[in-house]
Amino acid sequence: MAQAGSRKRARRIRPRPTARSSGAAPKYVYSFAGGKAEGSSALRNLLGGKGCELAEMTKMGVPVPPGFTITTEAWAAYNAGGKKHPAGLWTQAMAHLARLEAAAGSRLGDPKRPLLVSVRSGARASMPGMMDTVLNLGLNDKSVDGLAARTRNERFAWDCYRRFITLFADVVLSIDRHALDALLEAAKTRAGARTDADLPAPALRELVAELKKVVQDKTGRPFPQDPHEQLRLAINAVFESWWAKKAVDYRRIHRLPDDWGTAVTVMAMVFGNLGPTSGTGVCFSRDPSSGERRFFGEFLVNAQGEDVVAGIRTPEPIEALKTRMPAVYRKLTAIKDRLEQHYRDMQDIEFTVQEGQLFILQTRSGKRTAAAAVRIAVEMFEKEKRIDRDTALLRVEPASLHQLLVKTVDPAARYTAIATGLPATPAAAVGKVVFDPERAVEMALREEAVILVRAETSPEDVAGMHSAQGVLTSRGGLTSHAAVVARGWGKCCVVGAGDVVVDEEHRLFRAGRAVVREGQVITLNGATGEVIVGAQPLVDPKLSDEFRKLLGWAQGRATTTVRANADTPADAIKAREFGAVGIGLVRTEHMFFGDQRIPIVREMIMAGDVQARKKAVDQLLPFQREDFIGIFRAMAPYPVTIRLLDPPLHEFLPKYKEVLEEYTRLDARGYNPERYAELGAIKARLEALLEANPMLGHRGCRLGITFPEIYEMQVRAIMEAACEVAAAGVTVEPEIMIPLTGTVAEMKLTREMTDRVAKQVLTETGRKVAYSVGTMIEVPRAALIADRIAEHAEFFSFGTNDLTQMTFGYSRDDIGKFLPFYLEKKLLPNDPFAVLDQDGVGELVRVGIERGRRTVPTLKVGICGEHGGEPSSVEFCHRVGMTYVSCSPYMVPVAWLAASQAEIKEPKHPESGEVKPKASRANTRKAVTVAARPATRKATRVARKRRNTR
Ligand code: PEP
Ligand code: MG
Repeated sequence: MAQAGSRKRARRIRPRPTARSSGAAPKYVYSFAGGKAEGSSALRNLLGGKGCELAEMTKMGVPVPPGFTITTEAWAAYNAGGKKHPAGLWTQAMAHLARLEAAAGSRLGDPKRPLLVSVRSGARASMPGMMDTVLNLGLNDKSVDGLAARTRNERFAWDCYRRFITLFADVVLSIDRHALDALLEAAKTRAGARTDADLPAPALRELVAELKKVVQDKTGRPFPQDPHEQLRLAINAVFESWWAKKAVDYRRIHRLPDDWGTAVTVMAMVFGNLGPTSGTGVCFSRDPSSGERRFFGEFLVNAQGEDVVAGIRTPEPIEALKTRMPAVYRKLTAIKDRLEQHYRDMQDIEFTVQEGQLFILQTRSGKRTAAAAVRIAVEMFEKEKRIDRDTALLRVEPASLHQLLVKTVDPAARYTAIATGLPATPAAAVGKVVFDPERAVEMALREEAVILVRAETSPEDVAGMHSAQGVLTSRGGLTSHAAVVARGWGKCCVVGAGDVVVDEEHRLFRAGRAVVREGQVITLNGATGEVIVGAQPLVDPKLSDEFRKLLGWAQGRATTTVRANADTPADAIKAREFGAVGIGLVRTEHMFFGDQRIPIVREMIMAGDVQARKKAVDQLLPFQREDFIGIFRAMAPYPVTIRLLDPPLHEFLPKYKEVLEEYTRLDARGYNPERYAELGAIKARLEALLEANPMLGHRGCRLGITFPEIYEMQVRAIMEAACEVAAAGVTVEPEIMIPLTGTVAEMKLTREMTDRVAKQVLTETGRKVAYSVGTMIEVPRAALIADRIAEHAEFFSFGTNDLTQMTFGYSRDDIGKFLPFYLEKKLLPNDPFAVLDQDGVGELVRVGIERGRRTVPTLKVGICGEHGGEPSSVEFCHRVGMTYVSCSPYMVPVAWLAASQAEIKEPKHPESGEVKPKASRANTRKAVTVAARPATRKATRVARKRRNTR
């Protein structure tokens, strides 16, 4: 990734704070002005994304207002030093301020020629809107007149002052913003002004007096008049905004470390609110939703700073600039092309036009949907030859590929939309309306699908937005906060639906004559921006040519291959479509639940003796054989790992509570003696099977060892199926897997049984079918004695669901009771059932592989827990030398991309890889239609739910 590259460079180039050794303060401040800059893109970690790119652009000759950036090292020192400026910081800041004043030709606080500055946050990774900014700093009761005189625009000067006081009071003095905004609204009503821009100078002057009074009342002090004091306080507030709840939430969601900190950029203000030849906007060098190579963006005439991103006024499309200000449009087009060329990536650019003069205030790699990321990466490599193939692979976030597997509203659906907004992302969503972000979080925790409806979103809403299936706003454009943030997640988002009038107080919204109350289900059509009452049918997505291309490249590059967990031929076919090169786990218990089978399974469990049990088991054999034939055929010529029965037997019987209820009812009535006797027997069997902790009980190979008929039947069914498909000329590679092995004796015994039965079948059929026998490693002890287990196993598959459960001692079923608290308090970095704990569970995996391969150097090793499709876990599996990862069919593309990126970052030793059959690539060329994949968390929940009966 370009970013990763520049991070590496940053480490090398970053200037050493040599002054420290001589006792002087390190260099905390870097300037950029007049075509010269002390920093560059290479100093991203030190100057933050905003600061380093402002420096870079200054050097490139892009029109950037002059300024300076205070480093993240200064932030770290401030934080470590009890929230005090480290020695030397202020002196350096003042020296750089003097340089800035010289470049700008005005001075901070000068009553005649006042310099106004913005004080802006900037972390190394973009966190849109999550931290604070102060604009128009430097104004006071005197300099406001100076500004009015200089610009010959009294209204403008007072508008700047009221904006400054409002922002400063909110961000720096922590005064509730609502109270301040209420004053603005009241002023508008008094003056009969429709918009902020209609407020005349006298009204603004009056408003400023009111705002200052609020400050005096709330803080007990007058609004600070000394601009240097304003600057010091604003810098501290921006430092502190790193810890704002919204920023902390954002970092948690995006797994960004807390210790990066923010840089602070102080820059001369330029004004987009100086009249009709001024304006401000945000633009992208390509369409961030589709990836199409077209200029995309929005702007507002006569507006300042955050008006566009805040979504307060709905802006005009960038094309309108072409007619309004053609020269500016031409210049902006040239600059965006130059910036994209320079950074070799799609850019998100903030600009301001001050009386016809264009200034660039920020550039960064633009957030984009996964569809756009894939298209841009593929086109930049293949068509435009701007990047190489590895860079193209690194440009797409593996987890984001989920977005391409999202459902959309069925085009055949007939409905009448109650409102239409701007479609910010293509995904559709169905859910219950909720107006409060915190309530959205609560409902989502109860696994309810919700749609968050807001007039506009603000960064405080980020946790609620994340929990919701979709977001609907009545205000804001395609670059508003809601759109930018949702786009980054690929979440369904419709913004600026002007007909939607949100009435938070009564928990409803109106759209035309429709009234939709909280809890009512609506559908958002992300493709069209339509809002529909009720649940519309959603359909599976079609994957683009670019997607298939990228997947093919990933398959070609990865050395850790990807298999799927699939229990049916239909799942196997789906997995193939996504490029799986084998099945890493067939859970055979799922095959026991069919209508025709469950009575036989129950007969097997209820059997009083071995003979009766064997009779029942033999009836299951043809069913199992058919299942395996279907799967082998669907997955040929790739290997299929079939796990012998794992769950405890009580899972196949009716629930004890239900049996007891019916039994007691019949007992009381005293009729239907036959059913009564049957229930009595089931009840007795359930009581006999009852375990205090079934997950650590009679399951896995323990079951197969005590009821050998079951495993014998399964091995026979697998081998008979393999022989039958082999006879039809189909390549088949069965891998028989023993679950929950914990001792060498267990492994040896089950291995011997498997070989005995398999050989019998081969002799009976006269066929030669190669098979292998291996084990799951899901008990910590098995990992520790892996060298001895490997004497009897031809492959290992790490069952990291159980391994996590047993390593942490956290029940897979019950972790939900304390996990949210643990995550919030940072007692755990992630849900360990979703993201592999590399330090603990991962260490057992590493030890298991190393010891297993000590005995069998070519031992095939995979993973089949939920982690097999989670990108950071896949990267870990690659690093520890796994042969393959196995995950749900819908995660297969994600795992391929993650595996290819892992290989690019850290090439694997050629000996540890499984050879990739060439056909794997051809597979993905087929046009495929896919159903929506469950998210990792959801899949984990489903897996846990399945376990709930255990
Ligand atoms: C595991 O434990 O990781 C595994 C794949 O098995 P199951 O989830 O079926 O227990
Ligand atoms: Mg398991």
